[in-house]
Amino acid sequence: MKTKFIFVTGGVLSSLGKGLAAASLGALLQARGLSVTIQKLDPYINVDPGTMNPFQHGEVFVTDDGAETDLDLGHYERYLDVPMSHKNNTTSGAIYNRVIAKERHGDYLGGTVQVIPHITDEIKAKVLSLAEGDDAPDVAIIEIGGTVGDIEGLPFLEAIRQLRSDLGRDNCLNIHLTLVPYLKAAGEHKTKPTQHSVKELLSIGIQPDIILCRCEQQIPEEMKRKIALFCNVDQDAVFCSVDVENIYQVPLKFYEEGFDQKVAIMLRLPARNAHLDDWEKLVHDCATPTGKVSIAIVGKYVDLKEAYKSLHEALVHGGIANRVDVELKYVNSEEVTEKNVAENLKGCQGILVPGGFGYRGVEGKIEAIRYAREHNIPFFGICLGMQCAVIEFARNVAGMADANSEEFNPLSAHKVIYLMTEWFDFRTQAVEKRDAGSDKGGTLRLGAYPCKVQPKTKAFAAYQREMVQERHRHRYEFNNAYKDVLGEKGLVFSGTAPDESLVEIVELPNHPWFVGCQFHPEFKSRPMKAHPLFRDFIAAAKAFAKK
Ligand code: GLN
Repeated sequence: MKTKFIFVTGGVLSSLGKGLAAASLGALLQARGLSVTIQKLDPYINVDPGTMNPFQHGEVFVTDDGAETDLDLGHYERYLDVPMSHKNNTTSGAIYNRVIAKERHGDYLGGTVQVIPHITDEIKAKVLSLAEGDDAPDVAIIEIGGTVGDIEGLPFLEAIRQLRSDLGRDNCLNIHLTLVPYLKAAGEHKTKPTQHSVKELLSIGIQPDIILCRCEQQIPEEMKRKIALFCNVDQDAVFCSVDVENIYQVPLKFYEEGFDQKVAIMLRLPARNAHLDDWEKLVHDCATPTGKVSIAIVGKYVDLKEAYKSLHEALVHGGIANRVDVELKYVNSEEVTEKNVAENLKGCQGILVPGGFGYRGVEGKIEAIRYAREHNIPFFGICLGMQCAVIEFARNVAGMADANSEEFNPLSAHKVIYLMTEWFDFRTQAVEKRDAGSDKGGTLRLGAYPCKVQPKTKAFAAYQREMVQERHRHRYEFNNAYKDVLGEKGLVFSGTAPDESLVEIVELPNHPWFVGCQFHPEFKSRPMKAHPLFRDFIAAAKAFAKK
């Protein structure tokens, strides 16, 4: 097997940035000429995060193959620029689901099915699946969700403990990320939480090879030596992950520390010198904008920024491509009314309505869209945002006062957005291909589908291509029965499925930039390669700011 494995665990607390650390290490190894993939193992019982409330769990990241995954996969794709798939994420729920299905099928031949070995074997198989095939990567980084000491994480830790003896020391590396707090009153960094966390890890049989310390400021060398001594790792195997202003600085910071070099040496990787020009240029461009634009995100989950993680990043990428700082203003759509809409959106050069589910906050989104349309403010509607733009146009331009989506009012006389029943069979098949589905998830259109872009439109100006692939996660569609009447009133259908059965992009020609898309372009945006629609949206906002 050519693939070598790096296991990343976390201790002390959650939200230490394990995902970013894994992604940044991956980017550095890639810059050293190695092929890399990253997998996230999530200990929760949901089969996938698709059914979880974004308020609790943050964004659901959708892959090309239609897997609904953890938002860390978004970081992986953005840092590696390699597409993730259902192979790159699993959960306790999915693992148990598989084992129980096999048990029902009689695969265990009368045996007692247990956590060890059956659950752990299933986890190991999922990890090892990354090393299969001709295109197996040189390195697979496995991030274990949660914190060492969590009851639900134990089978995953046991599985990686076993993998090390299965595959040998040269092929596996354990990295433990902990917190090293700085106590202002004492005037020093504290290593005790790290020692306790490593002790916990040792008690389940895992000796970390490298300790990565999340800290507010650089830790002194003697402190690193102390951690090395107490935690039983090489003197030069303790690294800092210092707080940064911009997350795209992390790979360069790690490089300065010599983190990737130590990893390459310990795993005996055939690594060349790192080529980091792209990352340096990126960080330089981020730090030296030539202007600023304010973008209002009018949505429901404004209290938890993680719920719009990819969106937020895609807007930042659009800013980098246009050399402007993008200031995001999160506006709670539930509070937007016809009376206060101007006040709420004051000072913004662009308005974005993101995806979402359910009626709550929809009328506020429609008000914001009307405001953007009537005041020629650049507007970008994504998924539900596009559906709301169609509703707004039908109501206020085409005079269908009760126009709505079937999702919000099944009794509306003008269901301009509706459930397209003939797609059900097709969707169900797509979903059956996934690890497992739920009834709720089962009716969603998920993953990448082709979209044909009409020439001489804003969408075409952005893509410069007639055929594109974009990722979807929705249940409702534009109702083709309204194509003619809304078209006559000036709505342009600039993107459709190749056979024209589904509307994918709508826009207004007599507006500086008013575009809505049924798919989620934010999932495919990269820091060094902004998504064309985000790039052009920010360019329009920049032009609006100049005026
Ligand atoms: N609720 C809408 C639908 O199901 C939009 C979904 C979304 O924005 N992701 O079609």
